[in-house]
Formats: sequence, structure tokens, C-alpha cells
Amino acid sequence: MAAPVPSSRTRLIEESVTLSIAARALALKKAGRDVVSLGAGEPDFPTPANIAEAGIKAIREGRYRYTATSGTPELRAAGSAWLKAAFGLCYGTDEVMCTAGAKPALHMAMSTIIEAGDRVIVLAPYWVSYPALVHMAGGVPVIIEAVPDQGFVHDAAAIERAVVTHNAKGIILNYPNNPSGAVATRAQIEAIVRIAAAHDLWIVSDEIYAMLRYDGAEYVSAAAVPFGKERTLVVTGFTKSHTLTGWRIGFLAGSKAVIEAAGRIQSQVLGNPCTISQEAARTACAEAPFDEVARRLVDLDQRRQFLVQEINQLPGLKLTPPRGAFYALVDARQLCAKRQQSDLQIAELLLDEHHLATVPGSAFGIPNFIRLSYAAAMPDLKKAMTRLAAFVRS
Ligand code: PMP
Ligand code: GLU
Repeated sequence: MAAPVPSSRTRLIEESVTLSIAARALALKKAGRDVVSLGAGEPDFPTPANIAEAGIKAIREGRYRYTATSGTPELRAAGSAWLKAAFGLCYGTDEVMCTAGAKPALHMAMSTIIEAGDRVIVLAPYWVSYPALVHMAGGVPVIIEAVPDQGFVHDAAAIERAVVTHNAKGIILNYPNNPSGAVATRAQIEAIVRIAAAHDLWIVSDEIYAMLRYDGAEYVSAAAVPFGKERTLVVTGFTKSHTLTGWRIGFLAGSKAVIEAAGRIQSQVLGNPCTISQEAARTACAEAPFDEVARRLVDLDQRRQFLVQEINQLPGLKLTPPRGAFYALVDARQLCAKRQQSDLQIAELLLDEHHLATVPGSAFGIPNFIRLSYAAAMPDLKKAMTRLAAFVRS
């Protein structure tokens, strides 16, 4: 008799492309290849020492047992205070929960609000995991095509048309955006939230890059504009700003009813987020006014400008300056047409022949674009540009 096979549901779920490319780049490096890794977005800066030390201290002092399932009361209070101090978002302690990163926060959020078969609007280019996360919660993602000519921010009227056509129940927003680096203006957020309110949509607002902005781009949360707060779930944390990547820690904020329900799900799935990492996150919450982030932004901005300058000199490639996060979404449509190759093939060739790891735009619903992460040291970026130029001119 044949062995049992994984469920049909699992066939809807692809492996995270960003993480599989990171794994491939690492394997090549381990095999002795000089790979420049601009694939997965992980800051090259180390976790700040005081934050790491808080985790070490927790272990030394024996604070490593199970905690309350939605995070320790102290961390939830610290998270609530941080949201107010850093972003002006007002959530009580019971409206904030701690979870094992932004990804689980998105999972808890969607599992809490999506009914079976609900359509959820996903705006391309979208972060790789959104469609899978919607599927896993029993929903159906409805993808709206990217608008590169509008700086990657969809207008509210186009969103409304899709909401009506598909009878959508929710929408995922992500500004600053991964992969485009777009940051919606206050007026744009207000207009989208107005549509969400008019059609009674949930909003899941992934604000994990909120602290990483350039050129004076303003951070505006969907939860901070009229009619926004009651229908918005904010996903946030220190993953990208403070390199808490492997620590697996993040926050979900929303109404007391949603947070309580999400907490019940978490209690059955995670138990609790890592106790040691909760201690580290508590230190991060208290760090205002965020000197560390300010220092990082100086470096990131320099790298961003370097990429904009270099890439726009290459024939067939174009890069509109990103205004947030740490990704360059390179428009390779001309190059793809000239070489008669897709973004998938180009990313493959860049890795195999030039040892440069990137992510093809197709992974984000924007074919014939290529994403480069500039959360990498300047010497690596310089090497990457030499290799990209060699490829383009080959
Ligand atoms: N949202 C976005 C937009 C991301 O780029 C990432 C990548 N890490 C996540 C969520 C997940 O973050 P975490 O590592 O905290 O789960
Ligand atoms: N979010 C990062 C990226 O988009 C890290 C990889 C992941 O979590 O998928 O590259």
C-alpha cells in the first residue's frame, strides 16, 4: 500500500522564495563560492549589544520558563508604550500581544479575522508570504496588479473596484513596502481607509519597516487615520530595525476582542513566544528615541543612493528611488525583452554565473523586476554592482 501523502491544502503553499534563495546562496558560500547575497532582507548590522545582553541576562537569571501565552504583562505594557512613543499609536496593554515575529503576527491576525472563502485584497508587488498566509487562514487572495508608473501606490478607486468585483472582506497594506520601498502618503492612506470603511473591510497593516524611511517620507499607519483604528490590525516589531531576525519576536495590535481571540489561537499553536527573546524585546521597547535606528538610517541611505546611481547607468535597468525599507526593486523589463529572458531566468543566471543572489520580481507578483536587498555592507554592494554590470553587458 502507498504511504499517506500530505494534505491537498499543503499544495496551495509554496516555500518562501526569499528564504529558499537565502538558503541556496548560503550553500554556495559554504561550498567555497564568493557569493554576494542580496537575496533575503536581513540587516548586516548585529543585534544591538544591550538588547542581546537582556536575553543573555534572562538565561543567566533563570528567566526562561513558559510565560503568559500572549507575552508577559511587562512586555505587553512596554509594547503599548513603545507604539505610543515611536508611532503615536494608542493601544492599551490588552490590545497588544507579543508573538514570534511579524510573520506569526500576520498568521494570528488572518486566522482570527478570515472566514472560510473570504476574499482578501493583496496589492502587488506584495511580500512573498501574503498569498500563502491568506490561504492558510482559509481565505482567497485577490491580487491587484502592480502600478509601477504610480510609484507603486494603488489609488483608492482601483482598490474599490476590486473590492466590489470580488466582494472582498479584507485588505493587506504594507508601507513602507517590501519589495518596492514605496511609502504611501497620508492622503493615500486616508483614501484607502475610507474605502475600507465604506465596504466594511478588515485591514491588516504590516508596518514592520515603519522606522526605515528616507527623503523625509512620512509614516502614516492605517490605524491612525479617521475610521482606521477599529478595523485595522497592526503588525510590527524590531525585526528589521534592530536585527531581531533570528530572535523571532513581534507584535500584533488591534481591538481587545481581536487580540483576545488571536491570543487563544496562539495559546494552541505557539504556547508563548520565546521567553528569552521577550526580554530582549522589552529592552528594545525602552530604547526611545531610537538612536540606533538613526545611525543605521545614515548607512542605509548611503547604500540606497549608491544603488540608485549605479543601476540607472546600466542599459535596460531602471530604479525609482525607494522611500522606505531596504530593498531596490529594479525595473528589468527592457533587459528581459532584449535578452528574451524572464526575471526568473535572469535571477538564476546572476546566481549561477555571477554569484549574485537576488530575488526575481515574480515572487512578489511583479514579473520582470528584480529585487536587491541593500541591508548589506557597502563593499558587498560595490561587488554586486560590478557583477550586475558584467551580466548586463554580457
Ligand atoms: N512582513 C514583511 C513585509 C517582511 O519583509 C518580513 C520579512 N522578515 C516579515 C513580515 C516577517 O518578519 P519576521 O521575521 O519578523 O517574521
Ligand atoms: N522578509 C525578508 C525578505 O523579504 C526575509 C525573508 C522572509 O522572511 O521571507 O527577504
